Amino acid sequence: MKWTIEKATDLYGIKRWGADYFSIDDNGDVVVSPFGSDIDTKISLLELIHEIEERGHSMPVLLRIENILGSQIKLLHETFRKAIKESNYNGSFKGVFPVKVNQQEQVIEAISQFGKDYNHGLEAGSKSELIAAISMLDNRDACLICNGYKDEEFIDLGLFAIKMGYQLFFVVEVPGEIDLIIDRAKLHKITPNLGLRIKLSTQAEGKWSESGGESSVFGLTMSHVVNVLDKLKAENMLDCLQLLHYHIGSQIPNISDIRAGAMEASRLYEELVKEGAPMGFIDLGGGLAVDYDGSNSNTSSSRNYSIEEYCTDIVESIITVLDKNSIAHPTIITESGRAIVAYSSILLFNILDVSSFAPPAIPEVLPESANDLLENLLATYNMVSVKDLQECCNDALYYRSQARQLFKHGQISIRERALAENLVQHIMIKMSQIAKDLEHVPSDVQKITKLVYDIYYGNFSLFQSLPDVWAIDQIMPTMPVHRLGEEPTRSAIISDITCDCDGKLDNFPDILQQANTLRLHPLKDDEEYYLGVFLVGAYQETLGDLHNLFGDTNVVSIHVNENGSYNILREVEGDSVEDVLSYVEYDIRGIKTRLKDLAEDSVRRGFITARERKSILNTFNEGLRGYTYFEKE
Ligand SMILES: *Cc1c(COP(=O)(O)O)cnc(C)c1O
Repeated sequence: MKWTIEKATDLYGIKRWGADYFSIDDNGDVVVSPFGSDIDTKISLLELIHEIEERGHSMPVLLRIENILGSQIKLLHETFRKAIKESNYNGSFKGVFPVKVNQQEQVIEAISQFGKDYNHGLEAGSKSELIAAISMLDNRDACLICNGYKDEEFIDLGLFAIKMGYQLFFVVEVPGEIDLIIDRAKLHKITPNLGLRIKLSTQAEGKWSESGGESSVFGLTMSHVVNVLDKLKAENMLDCLQLLHYHIGSQIPNISDIRAGAMEASRLYEELVKEGAPMGFIDLGGGLAVDYDGSNSNTSSSRNYSIEEYCTDIVESIITVLDKNSIAHPTIITESGRAIVAYSSILLFNILDVSSFAPPAIPEVLPESANDLLENLLATYNMVSVKDLQECCNDALYYRSQARQLFKHGQISIRERALAENLVQHIMIKMSQIAKDLEHVPSDVQKITKLVYDIYYGNFSLFQSLPDVWAIDQIMPTMPVHRLGEEPTRSAIISDITCDCDGKLDNFPDILQQANTLRLHPLKDDEEYYLGVFLVGAYQETLGDLHNLFGDTNVVSIHVNENGSYNILREVEGDSVEDVLSYVEYDIRGIKTRLKDLAEDSVRRGFITARERKSILNTFNEGLRGYTYFEKE
């Protein structure tokens, strides 16, 4: 069977998770379509990698395609507009981007720019995020939502933003906050816009289910709400209460949870209106999920709904509840973070080396003195076939444990033991080749054939660049970005270059095949092999850490024009060794002085010459200035 681009497309599921932004061209390269299906503009990632390397930036590189942010904002707004129109909803939609999902200046700036046409605002959960948000948002028709715990300073910042004409809402998260807001508002004589964050009883499935429901640490209980209402009435400030907010978790895989949350919140909204609050806004928080594994299912790395369904179900849920009592339809706000930014960033890295699962060839004849056990293993090897799979598996495992026992007791030599292990590995390979074409594979056989893979060493740190893969087993789509016209003949896992055995990618969004390995191409001597990890724009950048002192990667941002040309907008150098050492409080001058003294001492003791001292110190100094990742000479 001939290998084709279509087969590669299927194997890596790029159409399933790529949301029209990624595909494979006729050269077998992954191409990006930053405008989705709207405009047929395609950029080859391999070409971009060459451009980036020619400019002197080594892999790994985090590539940001700014236009995808614009495309996702447009998609969210236009889909809501359509749902609103089709359902005859009388309110409008306003989105905000939660800064915590990607705080990088260039991302926030691009979102504010692209969001202008839609009055897309920002959500801040801390003082730092609020200051960043105000400085980036000059559109007074966009909303600023303040969540999180608020001290006097946070509240003052928000009040001054209101005075400067911003549509800013303080969302009361904990009962005590309301007193402080009332005090500061009176002091500055500024009328605040208030919202209440409610603890819904609806609990969403997925990895973040604790954010919602009764066990959530955030939000007001029903009696807190009653208290706040009474307080506002007593202060004559009920007029300030305009917004109801909830957030039942990020990456909500099941649409029925989204619907249930919207219904419950609408009921509460209705009650607040009946209590006499002006209201006008319902803020449903985040949760719109990304289909990372492309399975379109109710699993934690996926979602069982489309964005159309998301918007329609929210609009209809609100209508269903509010129309019963003729309550006016509010402006809908959502705080989608992940769905807006995930697609825009790709982690690109090269493969440094491969450790193949390739045992030495079986000798033509076994040594004469060979233990019977080896004869038996060879016979097992020759017997492996579809019909005897289970039996051969049992035998191989039995003889292997025998070999290990005999070795322990000094009855076979290291050479015989090596040959035994070697034969077992050949049996495993033969079995996995047979198993590939079988519909049903016995579970014991599955277990051992799962171990037949190569290890590809990637030039990146999982802990720095893909922290959610490590921390919460998030699946991120990973694939080669070129050579896709060639059949990928190896099964592999990918190890990063930290010395941590958790630093590996061995869980892939491959719903058709074994998902613990990824099919890759054998390395070529004269050519780099590049892989991409896709959909990494949300949450990964600031959650990453300095494990083994691998620092921030280089970041390159591009803006694509409709005719397919592009501008490299920003190139941010990743951390140098000096940078990461200073993050862990090393004094670089002190390091340099100590290295000088050590080298001088070595000269004095006669280990090195004065001239060698100079070149050794040069190497150390260059090392300090260099990239923390593997660099090509
Ligand atoms: C984290 C968070 C969000 C973003 O959620 P996504 O699932 O990324 O859209 C929105 N609102 C609040 C209050 C959050 O804490």
